[in-house]
Amino acid sequence: MKNIDWANIGFEYMQTDQRYVSNYKDGKWDDGCLTHDANVVINECAGILQYCQECFEGLKAYTTEDGSIVTFRPDLNAERMMDSAARLEMPQFPKERFLAAVDAVVKANAEWVPPYGSGATFYLRPYMFASGPVIGVKPSDEYQFRIFGTPVGPYFKGGVKPLTLCVSDFDRAAPHGTGHIKAGLNYAMSLHAHSVAHGAGYDENMFLDPATRTYVEETGGANFLFITKDNEVVTPKSDSILPSITRRSLVYVAEHYLGLKVTQRPVALAELADFAECGLCGTAAVISPVGKVVDHGKEICFASGMSEMGPITKKLYETLTGIQMGRIEAPEGWIRKIM
Ligand SMILES: *Cc1c(COP(=O)(O)O)cnc(C)c1O
Repeated sequence: MKNIDWANIGFEYMQTDQRYVSNYKDGKWDDGCLTHDANVVINECAGILQYCQECFEGLKAYTTEDGSIVTFRPDLNAERMMDSAARLEMPQFPKERFLAAVDAVVKANAEWVPPYGSGATFYLRPYMFASGPVIGVKPSDEYQFRIFGTPVGPYFKGGVKPLTLCVSDFDRAAPHGTGHIKAGLNYAMSLHAHSVAHGAGYDENMFLDPATRTYVEETGGANFLFITKDNEVVTPKSDSILPSITRRSLVYVAEHYLGLKVTQRPVALAELADFAECGLCGTAAVISPVGKVVDHGKEICFASGMSEMGPITKKLYETLTGIQMGRIEAPEGWIRKIM
C-alpha cells in the first residue's frame, strides 16, 4: 500500500499508476487496454472540444471490514452511462465491459485503495467523449472511453457540519433537457451558479424546477431526501433530476431495513418548512445533512439544527455505510468483490 496519510487527503485528483482506454471507430469499440499514460491527445476539432459531447460516471472502490476490495452497485453506473450516451447520440459502452474495466483499473492500482477504517476511498471516474473531428454540428464518428481512479479523503473530515443552501436564481437543467443524464455540460452551466452561491457564503445551491420554479429539484451534484415530522422519507420526483444511485439505495434501505414509509413525489418549495430533516445524497458523502435553506433572505431551518445529522438521516447513513463496508448484510448483487 502507498505511504499516504489517508485520513487527511482531500477530494483532489492524484495521478495513479494505470487507467483504462478504449476507442470507438468504424462503428465498433476496440479491445481496450490499461495504460500508464495519463494524458489524452485528440484533434483540435474533436467533438468534445467544440460541442461538448461527453458523459461520465462516478463510483468508489474501497476496502471492507474483512479486507476485500469491492465496488458498490457498479452495474447501475454502467446502465446510467448507457442512458447518458444514448441521449447524447454517443455509442453505448457495453455493461459487461464497463464492469470488467472498473475491476481492471482497481486491480492495477490496488496499492492506491485506502485501508478499511480510514474513511478514505478510491474514487473511479469512467467517462466518454467525442474524439473525432466535427465542425458542422453533428455527432462525432469516433469516441474514447476511459476510466481512471484517484484516492479521496473522508468526506466528513473534522466531523459532520450541516450545510446551508441558497435557492438559486439560475436553473441547472431545462424542461425536457439533459438534467436526467450525467453529462459534463450540466456541470459547465452550473459553475457560475456555484461561484455566486459560494461568494455569498452558501455551501450549495438548491435548484428549482425550471418550468415553474416552485418545486425542489436538486443541487449541482446531489439529490435531496427529506424526512417529515412523522418519520416518513420523501424524495422529489421530476424528469430533470439525475437518478442518484445513492438516493435509490437509501430509499431501499429506508423501506427494507428501517421499515420507514417512502414517498417519491413533487416537493414544493413552499412546504420545506414542514420537514424535520433534509439531506443531500451522492456517492461522495453518501448523505450530507442540510441545516438551513435560504430563499432570498427568508430562512428555512430544519428541526435537526446546525450541529449534527438528524436522527433518521443518521440511521440511513449508518445503515448504508454499514452495508457498503461489510458490517451489515447487503441486498443481493449490491457489492461486487474485486479482490
Ligand atoms: C452524480 C450526481 C448525483 C449523485 O448520484 P450518485 O449516483 O448517488 O453518485 C446527483 N446529482 C447529479 C446532478 C449528479 O451528477
